[in-house]
Amino acid sequence: MSYMEISNIEKSFDKNEVLKGISLNIEQGEFVSLLGPSGCGKSTLLRCLSGLETIDKGTFVLDRNDVTETPAQNRNIGMVFQQYSLFPNMTVEENLSFPLTIQKMPKADQKAKIDDVLNIVGLTDKKKAYPGNLSGGQQQRVALARAIISRPKVLLLDEPLSAIDAKLRKNLQIEIRRIQQELNITTIFVTHDQDEAMSMSDRICLLNDGRIEQVSSPIELYTKLSLIHI
Ligand code: ADP
Ligand code: MG
Repeated sequence: MSYMEISNIEKSFDKNEVLKGISLNIEQGEFVSLLGPSGCGKSTLLRCLSGLETIDKGTFVLDRNDVTETPAQNRNIGMVFQQYSLFPNMTVEENLSFPLTIQKMPKADQKAKIDDVLNIVGLTDKKKAYPGNLSGGQQQRVALARAIISRPKVLLLDEPLSAIDAKLRKNLQIEIRRIQQELNITTIFVTHDQDEAMSMSDRICLLNDGRIEQVSSPIELYTKLSLIHI
């Protein structure tokens, strides 16, 4: 039994069939990229897995529990979006304490968690800063910190680096991979950038028009693509 078992997921919006039977198994600690063109259903799949969107057909079993019908807040899944989704009127520290307060964690325990996670993402000195005074890259680190602060079962990253300029982007790719491996968090990373997927992933899943076309390791994909280009 795999850690994540995604079986035959279908999702339509009105008559628009967006996910046409997605099946994928992911092992604990794996980093899987979801690579595909704009509009192919990447964000929809992540939203379905997180519980932000309901599905029409199929099942999602996470760590041996069927969570297909489980509300988002009870799935223990962390998510980072492309847009910086921090509360602008709250400091970094307040942004991070928000999910913990919802879980009714005592303030003293929160403080330890926040210090720990800021250390992991390398932003210890920005605790009192407001998002508006941080760079895009720093804001995404805070968003990542917020997503991992409760040590979720799964981390879902929806093109978290697309708004970051090229130079910083490479650094953040390395950082995200380091953190993911350090914490051994099972991760799905959405991107439409082939190089990004190649350099970060254990496996790459090619999505096209609501279907998985192939799943391969970076080296397999590289070999296939170079054969096509010859
Ligand atoms: P991607 O992330 O791969 O670019 P999306 O999953 O965002 O693609 O979108 C896939 C398709 O689903 C698009 O045709 C989009 O218009 C449609 N779609 C996504 N979310 C909604 C929604 N909430 N309501 C209606 N259509 C949607
Ligand atoms: Mg998207």
